[in-house]
This record gives sequence, C-alpha cells and structure tokens, in this order.
Amino acid sequence: MIVILKPNITSEHDEFRQVVEYLAHKPNIRTRVHQEVGTQQTLTEIYLIGDTASLDKTEVESLAGVDRVVRVSEEYRILGRHHDDGRPSGFEYNGVTFSQDSLHVFAGLCAVDTREHVEQMLRALRDAGQVCTRMGAYKPRTNPYSFQGHGKACLPYVFELAGKYGIKVVAMEILHDSHIDEISDALERAGRPTGVLLQIGTRNTQNFELLKIAGRQREFPVLLKRGFGITLEESLNAAEYLASEGNGRIIFGLRGMKTNMGDPHRNFVDFAHVPAVKRLTRMPVCIDPSHSVGSRASSPEGILDVMHVTAQGVIAGANMVLVDFHPEPATALVDGPQALLLEELPYFLDDVRIAREAYDKRRALRQRLASKT
Ligand code: PEP
Ligand code: MN
Repeated sequence: MIVILKPNITSEHDEFRQVVEYLAHKPNIRTRVHQEVGTQQTLTEIYLIGDTASLDKTEVESLAGVDRVVRVSEEYRILGRHHDDGRPSGFEYNGVTFSQDSLHVFAGLCAVDTREHVEQMLRALRDAGQVCTRMGAYKPRTNPYSFQGHGKACLPYVFELAGKYGIKVVAMEILHDSHIDEISDALERAGRPTGVLLQIGTRNTQNFELLKIAGRQREFPVLLKRGFGITLEESLNAAEYLASEGNGRIIFGLRGMKTNMGDPHRNFVDFAHVPAVKRLTRMPVCIDPSHSVGSRASSPEGILDVMHVTAQGVIAGANMVLVDFHPEPATALVDGPQALLLEELPYFLDDVRIAREAYDKRRALRQRLASKT
C-alpha cells in the first residue's frame, strides 16, 4: 500500500506526524518514507509493507495530510501501475522533464576518445538545438585487451565542454559504485555545469549490489538497460531494486536481445515492448537503436536500419532515444561501425520528429474514438 501525502506535506509537518502515529498503532506494518523534491513541490509517499490487507483505505484517506491511498498488486510495488493509481510518471532533472509523454534524443559518443571529438559532437548538438547527450567514460568490453574507456581522466573536459555547449544531461554508464563518486567529484570540481544520467548497462542489469547503491543515492537519476538474456519481468524487477532503495527517478532502456534469431542485426530489436513497459510500469522508456542494430546497414530506399528501428520505437511512444554518433567513425575506439555521422544529425532529428508526429496523431485518433463510445 502507498500513502500519498498532499503536496508539500513533509516530515516536518504535523499532518505527517499524525499519519505516522496512526500507522504506528497498526500491528505488523512497516513504513518507508520516500520524498521527491521538485522545483514546484515536494511529494512525500509512505510505502507500507506487512499486513496492509487489514487497513481501511477510506480511513487512511480521511487523515488530514493524505491525498490518496493506492493498494499495490504484487508486481513492481513502487514502479508498477496499480489499480486506481493516478500517480504521475516521470521526473524532472536539471531542468529537463522525463515522463511517459516526453521525448528526448541522447545522441553522442559511445566512448569518449579525444577532447576534440567530444567538442565536435557537442557543438553539433548545440547547433541542432539539443540539450542531452551520451558520453561513455567507463566501457564494459567483452575482450579484456580492448579499450576500457578513459574513465575519470576524461570527466573534467567532458563536463566543462557540456557546460560550454548548453548540455543539461549527459547519459554515462557506470560499472562500479566508485564511478558514481568519481562523477560526483568531477561535477563538483567543474562547478556543476551539467547533469548526469547514470546508465546501468545490459551486462549489469542484475548486478543487485550496484543497483542498491545506485538506488540509495539521490543525486543522479538512472537509465537502466534491459538485460540482454533475461525476461522482461526480470529486468523490470531490477528497476524495482533501484526504486525500493529510494531512487524513483528511473528510465527503462530497451536495447535488443542477444540471440542469433535477430541476425543480421547485432541484437534482436525489442521495441515492440515500448508500450508493454509503459503499461506495466510508470517509467519513461528509452530505446537504443545503435546497440540493437549494430551496423550502418540500410534498406533499398537508402534509409539506415538504425533509423528504421528508431522510427518504430518512437511511433510506439518511446520517451528517449540513446544513439551513437561519431565525428570520424573510422577512428572510433568503440562501436565505430554503428555510429551515425555528425552531418546526419539534423536528418536523424527530422526523421524522429516525423515518427513522433505520427505517434501524436495515433494518440489523437484513439482519443477521438474513445470519446464517441
Ligand atoms: C552502451 O550504451 O554503450 C552500452 C554498452 O549499451 P548496452 O549496455 O546496452 O550494451
Ligand atoms: Mn557501444
């Protein structure tokens, strides 16, 4: 059960104390308080665990500070969509709103190689009116002798340049909890010119200890990629790990499944799951066309497969697109063959816009139908 307090009722208020006292008298009920501090308001939710079936929902709702009470089903207690669950989806971070209605493109380098390439990439993004990017500093590689990323050494110039070009959110994969501290320190040293969306990659989807640590910190939101070889349910439970530790600012990322059935793509594209994840949970959903397709193959009309699958995800309501670009793919140290070129950025963004318009029209069509019945 989740007790949602009225906006701006926090632990300092009498109404909050009244609710806690009321619950303290109920047997076998444990509580966990979750507070989301936004720019407009602070939302406090109290999660109840234990014998909640014996609680009277209407009675709890009659307490002065309570806005609503939601009874949760077993699946995805915090992130799930439950019966009568009008809780909003999404969150705001560093001036950018992420929800199941928004759409943001995170074009950028799979792996940071040189300062010059970072600057070229960010300049192109600024010129295209973009405020988000992806920049890999820590790279999980199959081969131990492959380039592992520049790590913390590149953070100072990545953050400085992000600030210079007006980037508000940088998606950056972490492989270990020490990386969170390194990112936080580097941001602080640089004067917080930008924000970071911590990315937990497909190889770490079920690294539960990493999930718990990323869930306990409140500084950064998290993009959790789906595990490449586990069920969707298992991956959504991994997201619930983050939320259960207190961090509800999570975006769920689809990036394809590892199976030869998806050949000739690098992974079997799973963007048909965009609406499924939006139905099962309140998380915004990201698609990663680059790691799904893994090449610059194109269809007879000349459109790249990466762009085809992007359009497929966006037309189905995706909220974020994580996509690899590189100023000089031939010299890229990681994933050059799948990278789009900087000259293709405006074209890519236009193509995304077309797919998004089609999605908006499909929604409007559905609403017209619903209003008639
Ligand atoms: C990435 O986005 O750079 C990446 C390694 O993705 P994934 O974890 O989906 O393989
Ligand atoms: Mn990659």
